[in-house]
Amino acid sequence: MKALVYHGPGSKALEERPKPVLSAPDDAIVRIVKTTICGTDLHILKGDVPSCEPGRILGHEGVGVVETVGPACTLISPGDRVLISCISSCGKCDYCRKGMYSHCRSGGWVLGHTIDGTQAEFVRIPHADTSLYRLPAGIDEEAAVMLSDILPTGFECGVLNGKVRGPGQSVAIVGAGPIGLATLMTAQFYSPSQLIVIDVDDNRLAAAHGLGATATINSLNENAVARVKALTSDAGADTVVEAVGIPATFELCQDLVAPGGTIANIGVHGHKADLHLERLWAHNIAITTRLVDTETTAMLLKAVATGTLNPKPLITHRFSLDTILDAYDVFGRAAETKALKVVIAA
Ligand SMILES: [Zn+2]
Ligand SMILES: [Zn+2]
Repeated sequence: MKALVYHGPGSKALEERPKPVLSAPDDAIVRIVKTTICGTDLHILKGDVPSCEPGRILGHEGVGVVETVGPACTLISPGDRVLISCISSCGKCDYCRKGMYSHCRSGGWVLGHTIDGTQAEFVRIPHADTSLYRLPAGIDEEAAVMLSDILPTGFECGVLNGKVRGPGQSVAIVGAGPIGLATLMTAQFYSPSQLIVIDVDDNRLAAAHGLGATATINSLNENAVARVKALTSDAGADTVVEAVGIPATFELCQDLVAPGGTIANIGVHGHKADLHLERLWAHNIAITTRLVDTETTAMLLKAVATGTLNPKPLITHRFSLDTILDAYDVFGRAAETKALKVVIAA
């Protein structure tokens, strides 16, 4: 089968690999129908994720059709159209029993990381019953791909951890990439009165405006702190979501948060960042961190199936698996190509 293989920092190739086979009784083999590229794949290619070793097939998102299942699978059957969760989970270990599937003792984020992933014609999914979701009838497959990772990540790490709870609240999202936009979309379940999005890319800010932002700020041209204060009666935002992952944006969040507010970090940080306790110690704030647990995936699937949530505007480009190297090129030059999510048909 064809697969996109990581060959060490800066190096990848589309090549022929053996089709995966069942290796545990609760495995399934899934034929990929659609997959996508994540910012995390770019981090791997930069060499930021040493736990991902050369030779690994990348990708942790996708939808497909179940081809074969091991004898221990009782929920998932051959022929099922399924969503592949970026988090694999056994459902039985101590972390899984607490709903922290991202920390599963024999799972977590393993696909396209420590085991071969979804940017291929076929993928082996461990713990298939609890790591795959049957797609509701009639659901758009491209929209569903957005639920493998970015929608549950924005919702769980940004909206739920950020305590977005209802009308009257102000929410500031720092970073208008796919994850920031997924946070923007799912924050609207709770009708906050202000949804302010901050980025340095006008294309992405225009996308945020189209997806429901009440104000957008290009922090290259404007003082984001002054503008957010002006929009919030000088208080700052009740919820501030960090969706970039660099020290400067985490520090900006500390300047944007209102007394009593919450900073919800989503960004993948590769460097230490300053925490200004000399100012924040008396501000009654909370800071949260989280790796997506995908505990809300089934709910989000229903929201897409019923039209409450429409993630399709996040898809800007489409490719086939044969042209996945072009897809990486377009996704990697997002500022020029205006790419948000690219969908790859296998
Ligand atoms: Zn991802
Ligand atoms: Zn587990």
